[in-house]
Amino acid sequence: MIVGAGYTGLWTAYYLAKADPSLRIVVLESETAGFGASGRNGGWCSALFPVSSRRLAALPGSSREAAIELHRAMQASVNEVGLVSAAEGIDCDYHKGGTVVLARTRVQLARARAEVDAAAEWGPGDLQFLGPDEVASKVRATKVLGATFTPHCAAIHPGKLVRGLAAVVERLGVTIHELTPVTRILPGRAITPYGVVRAEVAVRATEGFTPGLDGQSRVVAPVYSLMVATEPLGQAVWDRIGLADRPTFSDQRHLIIYGQRTADGRLAFGGRGAPYHFRSRIKPGFDDVPRVFKGLQKTLRELFDISPEFTHAWGGPLGVPRDWCASVGLERGVAWAGGYVGDGVSTTNLAGRTLRDLILERDTALTRLPWVGHRSRAWEPEPLRWLGINAGLRAMTLADVEERVTRRESLIARLMAPLLGG
Ligand SMILES: Cc1cc2nc3c(=O)[nH]c(=O)nc-3n(C[C@H](O)[C@H](O)[C@H](O)COP(=O)(O)OP(=O)(O)OC[C@H]3O[C@@H](n4cnc5c(N)ncnc54)[C@H](O)[C@@H]3O)c2cc1C
Repeated sequence: MIVGAGYTGLWTAYYLAKADPSLRIVVLESETAGFGASGRNGGWCSALFPVSSRRLAALPGSSREAAIELHRAMQASVNEVGLVSAAEGIDCDYHKGGTVVLARTRVQLARARAEVDAAAEWGPGDLQFLGPDEVASKVRATKVLGATFTPHCAAIHPGKLVRGLAAVVERLGVTIHELTPVTRILPGRAITPYGVVRAEVAVRATEGFTPGLDGQSRVVAPVYSLMVATEPLGQAVWDRIGLADRPTFSDQRHLIIYGQRTADGRLAFGGRGAPYHFRSRIKPGFDDVPRVFKGLQKTLRELFDISPEFTHAWGGPLGVPRDWCASVGLERGVAWAGGYVGDGVSTTNLAGRTLRDLILERDTALTRLPWVGHRSRAWEPEPLRWLGINAGLRAMTLADVEERVTRRESLIARLMAPLLGG
């Protein structure tokens, strides 16, 4: 039995049903399939993992080789999402055009070069440095001094992927019970207001919503990411700004931003900056922060020197573990996967295949990856958690201001890096 019908829950159901069609698999979902981050993300199906390879290699029992293996498995997951979507007829606008991260100040340029050098130690050739002319062949933005480029990212339509996956697993015989909230997960049992559901294994796939489960209030912190989307843009605009191969894009600022050109010709663009809410509360109103929406619109206008109409704005909670390290595991009848921070689109696929192997007791290359069985320590109790997370979010905004003023690498950002997966 799986709790949560987002990508984690549905990929797990998919791979289990494929591996053993005789299994009886039930997914319990408090709202509707895809209600969570899976139905409303930025659509970067990337090979990004929330902690650095260096940090992965330093985990207990891990090694440099194990960290590189995970990196390779992430790259393979990007392809796997595309292959399964094509094979199962899920039309999710998958297009693998890579990712361009722009450097738009001298400090950002130095950071881009340093990232390329660091990446070369863990996977030669994966991250390239592009000069301004090479960047212009992919995307034409303002103030560009250079960029990094990786081919390991596809742009997808998040809602189409999650709804398509839900339909596929139902076709495979999996039952999804929507509007069925689980209050507590115990070994082999899930408690709902309508009764107890029993199974050999209970899988927690609730990501940012996990603190709502009894006994799980400090496992991850729900941090909001917000997005805006433009009207479909005319050909003249695309001729000017490029993005013909639909690479996902960002820049080197500290407060994360991310964008994609959608298959229907819009710019979908998001970023952090919305507050964390006391006691990890989540409610629909928290998705709506006009200050952040306005900031995102301004940033996008400035990035491309365009003045589009904005037709959509939305957001949702990510799951952030205390050490930023996503994990997957199975212990005494309870399995889990999550803590992807903002990198769950492809990582959930890797989690689904790994949970299949763990549940079917297969010892595979996937079950030996260093994130398997990792336990992040619990978040601090309130009010420390509230103070710490909101201070961290504020620090990233200040780090960008600091860099603009001093034109030097931000000291604030350097001090924060160990707390943010770096
Ligand atoms: C705005 C935004 C942009 C993002 N952009 C990107 C991106 O571009 N690339 C990327 O890789 N990642 C991105 N992410 C993160 C990514 O979307 C998530 O990591 C991923 O979708 C997590 O999938 P999941 O299935 O684990 O969780 P979710 O999709 O959140 O699903 C959890 C499900 O569990 C259900 N649930 C929760 N509690 C219970 C309960 N008690 N009982 C029953 N059901 C329950 C919820 O209703 C939900 O449907 C973004 C996230 C957001 C919010």
